[in-house]
Amino acid sequence: MSTATIPSRVDLLREASLTICGRREGKTKACNSCLRKADAAVRLTRTAEQNHDLAPHLADIICGSAGHPCGTCWDKAITLLLELRG
Ligand SMILES: [Zn+2]
Ligand SMILES: [Zn+2]
Repeated sequence: MSTATIPSRVDLLREASLTICGRREGKTKACNSCLRKADAAVRLTRTAEQNHDLAPHLADIICGSAGHPCGTCWDKAITLLLELRG
């Protein structure tokens, strides 16, 4: 059996949720709230065509805001985009 080179959906989700929850040394798991946000974010990045259209939506998901995400969540959204889309 060969090992997969493409990260599995579970790995993607874990990484994304950690980015959203906030990475720090020794932390291996995001909270449930951020896991749910990561799930929505990963799904969104798979269906969208263009990265520049995605950032505001991702920031909104992460912040939980109604169209007015804060600066911190914008930063996380950009980081997440790079991680998920390369
Ligand atoms: Zn969290
Ligand atoms: Zn925010």
